[in-house]
Amino acid sequence: MSKTYFIETWGCQMNDLDSQRLSGSLKLRGYRRVDDERQASLILLNTCSIREKAESKVFSRLGALRELKAQRDVLIGVCGCVAQQEGEKILSRAPWVDFVMGPGNVGHLDEILAGGKTIAIDFPEDRRYDYLTVDRPSPTKAQVTIIEGCNKNCTFCIVPTTRGREVSRPFEDVLAEVRAAVDSGRVEVELLGQTVNAYRCPTSRRDFGALLSAVAEIDGVRRLRFMTSHPAEVNDSMIAAMRDHANVSRYLHLPVQSGSSRILRRMKRLYTREKYLETMNRIREAIPEIHFSTDFIVGFPGETEDDFQQSLSLIEEVRYGSLFAFKYSPRPGTAAPRIGPPVDDAVAAERLTRLFALQERIQQERLQSYRGKILPVLVEGPSKHDPTMLSGRTDDNWVVNFVADPATPLGSMLGVRIDQAQHHTLRGEAAT
Ligand code: SAM
Repeated sequence: MSKTYFIETWGCQMNDLDSQRLSGSLKLRGYRRVDDERQASLILLNTCSIREKAESKVFSRLGALRELKAQRDVLIGVCGCVAQQEGEKILSRAPWVDFVMGPGNVGHLDEILAGGKTIAIDFPEDRRYDYLTVDRPSPTKAQVTIIEGCNKNCTFCIVPTTRGREVSRPFEDVLAEVRAAVDSGRVEVELLGQTVNAYRCPTSRRDFGALLSAVAEIDGVRRLRFMTSHPAEVNDSMIAAMRDHANVSRYLHLPVQSGSSRILRRMKRLYTREKYLETMNRIREAIPEIHFSTDFIVGFPGETEDDFQQSLSLIEEVRYGSLFAFKYSPRPGTAAPRIGPPVDDAVAAERLTRLFALQERIQQERLQSYRGKILPVLVEGPSKHDPTMLSGRTDDNWVVNFVADPATPLGSMLGVRIDQAQHHTLRGEAAT
């Protein structure tokens, strides 16, 4: 059989990028990508374990692949965070799996395939990062890892276990990757890390703000985004870099997790509600047009109705443009389950519904306020819902679907007159 691979990805942007790296290194070895697992000689599942639901999906997928393995010669590899977390247990639970490889080994796939190694869940000192082979799916956008791992140890979070301690890439290495991406036509760059703003160059100790400025100043970077920032790592240098570079997106995802200082302390988030609001105010003073988004967890052990009300009042106070919210899910080896009594599942579900209802109202009000305005939009491609229209994002990261000349080049910046606020997006027409 010719060398073909199928890759399925769950989870965050870091996992997406890991799949792009795995895919690139396979193409370099003569593999061809296929969209049907039945035609693949190698199947990779790049998994997520941030919540229990994501993790159980992996095992039900593996169950389905058992039959395929019985029928023909195919290699099956489990990669990503479930691989790191479960290690050898995956092989005992699903012995038809050929190898298990954690996120620290993405740069070492070749050796695993060549050497027949079955378990690779260490965090090698030499994190190989061959950026020239990343198989980027978008012709206009490049994601670039600047820091891996997380040192924060929030009591609910599995990330420090699955992605290890923080390791920042050298400053010049990141700049070289961005230059290469720009040379290949990518005009939008997204810097990635689980705690992206904890970045420190391992040799010069330059911080995230310095890196953000240096990347923003590379010729050809039309838009610069980054994900995910930790509130306790926001500093003046980061705020100044955002303020002083017009190509840095006016968007900041700043996960708060709860509006109650009591719960934040139990989560070990390293800030109080007041400190978080103070940080946001500093950012808003410097960049008044900023669009804030966030993550909330509801039903954290011991969360009372009063704690939850404080999350709702924080949403009212900040008026986030958008947010993600999740029911708390206990993760193996984390401290949270010992911290307080579990919240009844029905209560947590009901809190989640109330939280989303409040955010829906605020988001609609915010989206409506754009009607009639002409906004610069970076053109990304055809609209997902209506291929006769184009789609792109504003400086403050709203998705806009709009009517325009279909020959408009991807990656160009266009003025779009907004005529409608839709569910989570805007609609408009190219302004002539
Ligand atoms: N590193 C980032 C941070 O610290 O804010 C985000 C990482 S995580 C991939 C994305 C979101 O998943 C978190 O911000 C949190 O809201 C949610 N999450 C993490 N662990 C969770 C858990 N055990 N149960 C429910 N949601 C969780």
